Amino acid sequence: MAKLILNHVSKQFGTGRPAVAGLSLDVREGGFLALLGPSGCGKTTVLRMIAGFEAPSDGAIFLGERLLANAAQSLPPERRNMAMVFQSYALWPHMSVADNVGYPLKVRGVSRETYRNRIREALDTVRLADHAERRPAELSGGQRQRVALARCLVTEPDVVLLDEPLANLDRHLRQEMEETFREFHQRSGATMVYVTHDQSEAMALATDVAVMSQGKLLQVAPPEEIYARPEGRLVGSLIGRGSVLSLNLPGGLPRKLTWEELRPVLASPALGSTADILVRPEDIALSGEGIATRVRSSLYEGERYSLILELEDGQILRTFSRHRPQVGDVVHVTIHSAWRL
Ligand code: ADP
Ligand code: MG
Repeated sequence: MAKLILNHVSKQFGTGRPAVAGLSLDVREGGFLALLGPSGCGKTTVLRMIAGFEAPSDGAIFLGERLLANAAQSLPPERRNMAMVFQSYALWPHMSVADNVGYPLKVRGVSRETYRNRIREALDTVRLADHAERRPAELSGGQRQRVALARCLVTEPDVVLLDEPLANLDRHLRQEMEETFREFHQRSGATMVYVTHDQSEAMALATDVAVMSQGKLLQVAPPEEIYARPEGRLVGSLIGRGSVLSLNLPGGLPRKLTWEELRPVLASPALGSTADILVRPEDIALSGEGIATRVRSSLYEGERYSLILELEDGQILRTFSRHRPQVGDVVHVTIHSAWRL
């Protein structure tokens, strides 16, 4: 096992804007990287280049010291020792769970002992050891996905690649499977690259999140860091449920702004240069003091109300409240801290 390295990788299909443009990324051994971005931003293309189903038009991909692909040469998928888990997990209905899991080994022709041992270890990892003799039809959706994960483990891959494996599942099953993936990563120690357009999934699962837009990498960092210190307006608005305000700031302020620094700017538009300011919902307090906003909408979510508040100049703030203000009410807010993008 070794670090997976993408070095200025691009992919151009035909003419026009490249699907992937100059993307550089390291995934450390045993790391769990989520590749996050809106539909069409190039996530699947990156994954297919790592797996060897597409060759890069430019740049290079390495596993440790070993060159996997560049524009001139590309190692075929079966020689990369990677496993790709697809959204439809495609189990053989007539085979037992154990034989489904062992199928990739049968193709490779390993000894009987290796066959049995690897299946047992893989089923242990996904906690299905007692289901080895069942047929897929006797399993729940979540269990079938775990069989598919076990099947990709038996070949002892260096890297496990997953392309939106939860996209078609209902919310309840998704949560169960998020747990499964996290546990799978911890127990298997595999290096994983997980593609998703769902930011909460990326944040919940991964040790590092790489945010993409239009073929480019915008930022890569651990979930907590990307939430607290997003780089630029796009990452700020893609991650979490914050609001981005455009404000005139006096010079010399730090990136993390306090209420003392924000209050004068919000109270009377200052001279200075315009900056984008990210405000997280949990950093806004509804209070008798602070600046006046008008409630534009108030949506009940079960535990709380989700509010959209409008500042005097029409910009909006998103926050939560345990009480329901009426649409059109004036409420005062204090912003404890905000982040300059
Ligand atoms: P994502 O997985 O983020 O939704 P994709 O990697 O599937 O994005 O696609 C990125 C861009 O590349 C899209 O504009 C898509 O239409 C284009 N694309 C992907 N695969 C091909 C292909 N085989 N031929 C031509 N264009 C493609
Ligand atoms: Mg895709």
